[in-house]
Amino acid sequence: MILIDGKKAAAELRAELKEEVAELKSKHNKVPGLTVILIGDLTPSQIYVRNKEKSANEVGLKSEVIKYPDSVEEKTVLEKIQELNSDETVSGILVQLPLPKHIDKQKVIEAIDPSKDVDGFHPMNVGNLSSGYESSIPCTPLGCYLLIKKIEPNLSGKKAVVVGRSNLNGKPMTQLLLKENCTVTITHSKTKDLKAECLEADIIVAAVGIPELVRGDWVKKDAIVIDVGINKTDNGIVGDVHFDEVSKNARALTPVPGGVGPMTIACLLKNTIDCFKRSQI
Ligand code: NAP
Repeated sequence: MILIDGKKAAAELRAELKEEVAELKSKHNKVPGLTVILIGDLTPSQIYVRNKEKSANEVGLKSEVIKYPDSVEEKTVLEKIQELNSDETVSGILVQLPLPKHIDKQKVIEAIDPSKDVDGFHPMNVGNLSSGYESSIPCTPLGCYLLIKKIEPNLSGKKAVVVGRSNLNGKPMTQLLLKENCTVTITHSKTKDLKAECLEADIIVAAVGIPELVRGDWVKKDAIVIDVGINKTDNGIVGDVHFDEVSKNARALTPVPGGVGPMTIACLLKNTIDCFKRSQI
């Protein structure tokens, strides 16, 4: 069984991006810039943002974090986004989710200029992805896609099952696999027989949020299994896939932690650089 090493893949991607940033700097005499807006003092969000800033600096991006207290007015955030939209030194804007209840998440997402939407959540980017046009792609599914392609460069005709249909993970993942000519089944909480669906799959991507939902006898021999889940349990962090059982059957499997997680931030950097490149055309 191939243990898919997300840390190594992310480090390799960051090294490639660092070279690319250096080339862009010598060509354009400026570097791509990522601005993150962080609202409130939720510890996980603070940790994510700190890691994003560290990684952005590591590859040579210009990086900035704008912090607001929980009580910030929606209007203030929207005005800041408008200011960043017209700032030429800012290539990518990310508003760290979740937001306090009094701020309308969709309004915030839609305020970001789609050409600077490094999370790929703007309806314009969602539409472009599903129409097969160039777009920013949500970072976690993009990371999953790159890991799958490392194991199997030609996905044409493969049967893929995506477990979970969130806008963040399941839906964009489905689009990416479809673009690669996979036959994709997207499953969710109302799916009648999830085990039977999974048993058909050459590729399974599990993005559910239920610890160890996908069991060993749900997985066809030689399937590629990507575990997006991050679930806190009494036994520590586990994924949506039962690692010990599935590792006995699968051809390749991502561990949790150390699988998809590290790729997410590396893909955010990739999206920032891609936004910059499109802005220079
Ligand atoms: P979400 O928005 O809660 O969506 C979960 C999806 O799973 C929904 O579509 C839901 O179906 C489906 N589901 C729930 N129970 C199910 C069941 N018994 N059988 C089949 N499908 C079921 O979750 P998310 O934001 O996509 O996150 C999923 C997991 O990924 C979480 O553990 C999260 O922490 C993790 N995550 C990891 C990363 C990373 O970087 N590695 C990034 C983001 C999220 P319905 O639509 O029918 O409700």
